[in-house]
Amino acid sequence: MLDSARKFIRSTGQKLGLSDEQIEQLINTDAEHNFEIEVEGNKYHAFRVQHNNKRGPYKGGIRFHPQVDYDEVRALATLMSFKTAVVGIPMGGGKGGVAINPKELSEEALEQISRQYVRGLKDHIGPDKDVPAPDVNTNAKTMDWMVDEYEKLTGDKTKAAFTGKSIDNGGSLGRDAATGRGGVIVLREILNKLSISGEQTYAMQGWGNVGSFFALIAEKEHPDWKLVAVTDSSGGVQDAAGLSAHEIDKFKKAGGKLADFKQGEKISDTDIVGVKADVLVLAALENALTNDNQTNVKARLVLEMANGPVTYDAYEKLAERGVQCLPDILANSGGVIVSYLEWVQNKAGEHWPEDKVNRELQNHLVKAVDNVYTRVQKDGFTFKEAAFAEAISKLVS
Ligand code: NAD
Repeated sequence: MLDSARKFIRSTGQKLGLSDEQIEQLINTDAEHNFEIEVEGNKYHAFRVQHNNKRGPYKGGIRFHPQVDYDEVRALATLMSFKTAVVGIPMGGGKGGVAINPKELSEEALEQISRQYVRGLKDHIGPDKDVPAPDVNTNAKTMDWMVDEYEKLTGDKTKAAFTGKSIDNGGSLGRDAATGRGGVIVLREILNKLSISGEQTYAMQGWGNVGSFFALIAEKEHPDWKLVAVTDSSGGVQDAAGLSAHEIDKFKKAGGKLADFKQGEKISDTDIVGVKADVLVLAALENALTNDNQTNVKARLVLEMANGPVTYDAYEKLAERGVQCLPDILANSGGVIVSYLEWVQNKAGEHWPEDKVNRELQNHLVKAVDNVYTRVQKDGFTFKEAAFAEAISKLVS
């Protein structure tokens, strides 16, 4: 993922005529923190990478995962700087993680790890320095522990040092659905720009926070978009007649695996990218489309809802045959936009109704798609290049 992210930056930077030095500045991270956390006699590696704060405080999630390492965190921090820039919010990019398997740890141990993480980073984070948020295997409860620890250490009562908190503790309404909702807005706006109308079929990999809200909101707001296949890590189903997002959601919330869903024909996780559909929505994992499986793609548009789901090589091959990748830094930016709105609310001591949050989210995304599409038309860029170019123009002085 790091390699692909840097290739996108290099190739777009070169097309924009940037010097090697300017490109290296865009790639290099500002600061990298790495320390050990010891809980119940076990030691864990903790990381925070601060990529770029030219436009405002570093912003990005903290993940708890056994495979977290520097390169993954560097890649995600880099993408965050480009994401905040392309959507025009006054924040930079960062990312953090602790190499643990949360499923093997008690709640007490997770709380101690969360609090120690904050103690280890106390001098480097804060409402105007670096504002972390949840990511894989962390959630509102983790952020509540962290913001409480930060308040104890520093006396800061704004709660603006972390976003993604619980609603009663300064969290924003609309945050849970924001990434999926943002993806629906981005796809709608791009279809409009491309003058594509009428029924659109889509196949989707992943039914987690992002995928489920994407499908539920699409079903409500765009009855002419038809979900024809979906997978989770167990596999999934396809049905050209259409699948009901709310039925799938009910089934998943009851603990079902998509491979066992009652409707449609069974498909494996590897089949999903080759399903016949107008749009392929990748909402699960990084590197889902590689050089090896990109040849199977039949969709005209690939909506990158996960971070880094298409490798650079796969993107190049897809572009050669006219398949447009709608880039992660734009498509999944709804989450960070609402995180930013949470920070704004905390700093002002306000708590906005959900429709105001959703309106603000939509305003940011409509403008960002407009800017990106202008570059697609003016410079002949792909959407991916145009999004990186738009971000670079805001990051390079
Ligand atoms: P999640 O853990 O809630 O869901 C992930 C989903 O992917 C699950 O349904 C899981 O079963 C599925 N999955 C895992 N392996 C799979 C496989 N091989 N094939 C098919 N499905 C598989 O995670 P999420 O929060 O929905 O995030 C999904 C992606 O979006 C990640 O890349 C994440 O970094 C990115 N993202 C999330 C947010 C957010 O707000 N949650 C914001 C921006 C980007």
